[in-house]
Amino acid sequence: MMKEIYFDNNATTRVADEVYEEMQPYFRNLYGNPSSMHTFGGQVGIRIREARERVARLLGCDPSEIIFTSCGTESDSTAIHGTLAATPQKRKVITTRVEHPAVLTVCRELESHGYTVVELGVDKLGRLDLNELEHQLDDDTVLVSIMAANNETGVIFPIEQIARMVTSRGVTFHTDAVQIVGKVPLNLSKSPINLLSLSGHKLHAPKGVGVLYVRKGTRIAPFMLGGHQEGGRRAGTENVPGIVALGKACELAARHMEDENTRVKALRDKLEKAILESCPDSRVNGEREHRLPNTTNISFEYVEGEAILLLLDRHGICASSGSACTSGSLEPSHVLRAMGVPFTAAHGSIRFSLSRYNTEQEVDFAIEKMPEIINRLRELSPFVQTGTGR
Ligand SMILES: *Cc1c(COP(=O)(O)O)cnc(C)c1O
Repeated sequence: MMKEIYFDNNATTRVADEVYEEMQPYFRNLYGNPSSMHTFGGQVGIRIREARERVARLLGCDPSEIIFTSCGTESDSTAIHGTLAATPQKRKVITTRVEHPAVLTVCRELESHGYTVVELGVDKLGRLDLNELEHQLDDDTVLVSIMAANNETGVIFPIEQIARMVTSRGVTFHTDAVQIVGKVPLNLSKSPINLLSLSGHKLHAPKGVGVLYVRKGTRIAPFMLGGHQEGGRRAGTENVPGIVALGKACELAARHMEDENTRVKALRDKLEKAILESCPDSRVNGEREHRLPNTTNISFEYVEGEAILLLLDRHGICASSGSACTSGSLEPSHVLRAMGVPFTAAHGSIRFSLSRYNTEQEVDFAIEKMPEIINRLRELSPFVQTGTGR
């Protein structure tokens, strides 16, 4: 079995060894229910409290503002539905065209329930127009949901500034921060953000655990009703191993943040620069400056993203394509379309997303293989016009 080279960390990440170690006892030895009255269960409750403190420390908030959920998708859904349920008289929601489906699909569905949903557009570099946001905010607006960093391009939105603009109008602001948490420092104590979603498996904790941050005083109705867990805000017996793991992953993230923004970023930059130089008619999608340190999204004219992925896969290199063909549709990614990336380029886009586990040798190997793959595919392409595209 070939060792994989994993450049798909925005899809999911490897569970850190330290995280795996820490969660293991909670399956077989410390399996008590934290709600039980006995000491056996109680000691588990103590570890949940500790995990909550660790998450709060990474985010710069109070532990009481952390609600554990089952995933980023649940956190997003709860934030949106919970806010609307708490203020039913207001009927307008503002989001963006480049959100993850966990936000976009939920918002689009609201239209069939009589809500007005505004999807803000982005420019060629994937940036929002904050004047347009300001113009759309009105007395009927109940919620603005805008992601902190885009999963496909890594482009970072100025959420602090957006949060100030939105909350100063008395409107609730939610951000899907799944991609940014653990990669870029956040400090919620200095920000009026009301609601924030994160997901364990994007920061080296396992799948099946997430967090919804709810700022004190934010009006939100619970989504899951039942027992009194999570202060009655999210019923259901706690995913103890997952929660303990997420706490540990947050602690590690704080420790690795500098590495992420220096070594990992340098590896990403090396990969990106080499590919742009060795592959004609290639370009980076999205603003390069305000971007996650681990992500690059590159378009190759006249080739199919899926074909590139297949050839990369033969070398054990895992990446992801910007088009949604894999999900049964021939449409290119909604994010690249919103940015006005030409059809021919959007179809041939590849996202490389790195992590602290990547090495320079892995990057060098990909740098060697990419021009071979692109040249080979262009030889086969009926559209090949290499060198005339610019
Ligand atoms: C992965 C992801 C989600 C969904 O998180 P899950 O835990 O997989 O449900 C939501 N938003 C963004 C930006 C993501 O990258």
